[in-house]
Parts: sequence; C-alpha cells; structure tokens
Amino acid sequence: MTSKNPETLALHAGWRRDSATNAVAVPIYQTTSFQFDSTEHAANLFGLRELGNIYTRIMNPTQDAFEQRIAALEGGVAALALASGQAASAFSVQNLARAGDNIVSSTDLYGGTWNLFANTLKDQGIETRFVDPTDPEAFRRATDDKTRAYYAETLPNPKLIPFPIAEVAAIGRSFGIPLIMDNTAAPLLVRPFDHGAAVVMYSATKYIGGHGTSIGGVVIDGGNFDWEAYPVRQPLLNQPDPSYHGAVWSQAVKPLGPIAYILKMRVTLLRDLGAAISPFNSFLFLQGVETLALRMRAHSENALAVAKFLAGRKDVSRVIHPSQHTGAAAARTAKYLPKGMGGLCGFELAGGSDAGRKFIDALKMFYHVANIGDARSLAIHPASTTHSQLSAEEQAATGVTPGYVRLSVGIEHIDDILADLSQALDAAAA
Ligand code: PLP
Repeated sequence: MTSKNPETLALHAGWRRDSATNAVAVPIYQTTSFQFDSTEHAANLFGLRELGNIYTRIMNPTQDAFEQRIAALEGGVAALALASGQAASAFSVQNLARAGDNIVSSTDLYGGTWNLFANTLKDQGIETRFVDPTDPEAFRRATDDKTRAYYAETLPNPKLIPFPIAEVAAIGRSFGIPLIMDNTAAPLLVRPFDHGAAVVMYSATKYIGGHGTSIGGVVIDGGNFDWEAYPVRQPLLNQPDPSYHGAVWSQAVKPLGPIAYILKMRVTLLRDLGAAISPFNSFLFLQGVETLALRMRAHSENALAVAKFLAGRKDVSRVIHPSQHTGAAAARTAKYLPKGMGGLCGFELAGGSDAGRKFIDALKMFYHVANIGDARSLAIHPASTTHSQLSAEEQAATGVTPGYVRLSVGIEHIDDILADLSQALDAAAA
C-alpha cells in the first residue's frame, strides 16, 4: 500500500485478501495453535529466524492485520495488540524499566494509569517521577542515570491541554530516553512519531473500536529510536536476556528491521504475562479502524460546536475544550491539533455539584457512562462518580471541581446533541 492518506490506509493497509480463501474481509482466525510445516520450520519460528504463527497468546493472523493497519496509520514500523489499554501502558514501560529504574511521567494521566504507576509499578520496584506537563524542562530536571522512559498523554482530560510532544521528545533523545505517548484521545488527529515520540500506545477500547463493544490496547513502535546507541541507558534492550537464550534484542532483531522494542515485548512480556487480545476483538477493532478518519472528523466538529454552544450559556461558568484555551495552551493547541481537537469537552456548572447531578439525570440521549470515544454521546459527573473517593482538595488537584461535567461528544446529528444538552441544562437550573 503506497498511499499515505489515512482514509485509504484505514481500509487497505496490512491486508489484501485471505491467502487460503481470497476472502476480502479479514477472517476471525479463532484458533489457539498453528500447525508447523516441519521440525525445521518450528525451530526457525521459535528461534526468531523466521516470523510466523505459533500460538494465539503470542500472535494470530487477525491480530496481525489489525497491528499492521494501525502501525501504518500511525507512521510506525510495527505494533503489538493487547487485551486492554492498561496492559498496553504497563508493557510499554516494563519493556524498558525493571526494579531499581525510574520513569518520568506527566501528572495529567487517566486514573488507571496513575494507579498503575503510583502503586503497582512502584511495588515492582519501578519508580515514577510525576512532573508538570506544561513545563518540558521539568522532565530534564527529574531525569537521572536510572531514568529509562518518559510518558505522557497527548490530550489528557479533564484539562484537554495538548502535551508538548516535540519539546519533551527532544529532551529525552539528548539522554537516550524514549518518549512514550498515550494517544488514546487523538488518533489520526496527532501522530506523535511526527513530533519525535518513540512509542505510541492506545486504549483501543475508545475511538479505535469506536462502538463501545470491546476492550483492547495497542503499542506501536516508531522504529525511530537507536537503542543500540545507548547501551548503558537502555540495558533491557542491550544486555543479554536470560529469558531468551541470552538474546541481545537491539542486535538479535536487526535483520527483521528496527522492531527490537516491539518484538521483545511480544516474545517476553506477552509470552510471560499473557495479556493477549482475542481474535474476535482484533476483528472488531479492524471494523472500527475502517471508519476512524470519518468518525474523528465528526467527533471534532460536533465537540467544537458543543463548546461554542456551552460558552454562550449563562448557567455554564467555564468551558474546557482546546478551542477555549488562551496563552501557552492555545499555542500548543495550534501546533498539535490543526487537524481537529477531538471529541472531548468539559464544562463547569455554576450551580455546583447539585446542578451537575441534576444535569446528568435529565439527559435523554447522552448515555451516563464512565467511558469515552464511543460513536454515541456520553456524559459523566466525576465529582459524584469516578472521583467521589477523593477529598475536595484531591479532586481539585486532578482538575475535577464540584460542578464539572465531562462529555464525550458523539457523531449523532449536532441538532440532536445540542437539544439534549439544552433541555438537561434547563432542568439543572430549575
Ligand atoms: N489511557 C487512557 C487515556 C484511557 O482513557 C484509558 C481508559 O479509560 C486507558 C488508557 C486504559 O484503557 P483500557 O480501559 O482499555 O484498559
């Protein structure tokens, strides 16, 4: 596929037809195992002298088509699909850092990622140093000899301020440290590799799937990071791996292309920890990817219209959407989001927590769920749900105020979206 246009890649990259049946749609290869042609063939597959299917925990043809398509769309070299976005975040870090090491991460993270870093990875001996994402230099200041990766989200909610990808990626590269970007909220709108990131991950559960049917994740290798050049900084890719006959990943994988990072993740972390995606979910994500460009455009247009509508309401004291930023955040929006600002929009009700609850209860079309990225419009009042266990101070620190409502604006007709919001706002003010 020579096209670089996302609309075309989304339908054609990584697949032409089924080699066995000529089927045009990618079949669901619902099988655990694959017959070896001979003992030599089997030995070559296990020895990584040849890439091919062995066992669906490690790889599967339906999964492979999804991985190739998403890698092409992202401008990366290869991808690994996993059972969830959480598995993708965990593996993206564990592939580089082990006990005694640290990573530097933006504070503005999805709560599940925060917990993973602050508690679970900490218990495994991997320290996370959280820094303010608005100051790229904070990443440099938090770096020491044991820092193995930087981590951030492209468009974190609730603040929806684009992360300075190029600025932080450049600081990381000066040390031999790759930037891992969670691009869940902005697929196709931002391509972090174009700005110097080395690894991109997604919760495919959100916009990639797009229809609220499946949990999944994916990690994409940019193939743009010279692991071999940093033998001391990146020991897990440059020292012999006892779990794979002493393979030195930056060397062993060279003949197969610049895929050391992602291949190691597949044949060690996925092999051992087993967070495999099912062939059926890979199929559903492929269906989602086919319309991703159309949907991201529609989500972006609708959310922008919603932001403008909310900004005109007297009962709304603040609208949180990239179009509303000023100063440095507005400059970052112009730099990173020229193709669209995504489907998320937050707002603050002047009536506080009570008004927030009333608003949610009055919605007729929007679903009240703790998810984002569905084709349908979704809403949640974090202070009474996702963030209710936090103190008022902790809520404020994460950007959640009592009257804050988060919308994931869907692709319904904009008139119907605005009508539902309007009647629910009226009900909340009554
Ligand atoms: N990253 C972001 C930005 C998310 O919003 C989520 C889920 O809400 C995740 C990661 C985790 O993904 P999953 O729910 O697929 O495990």
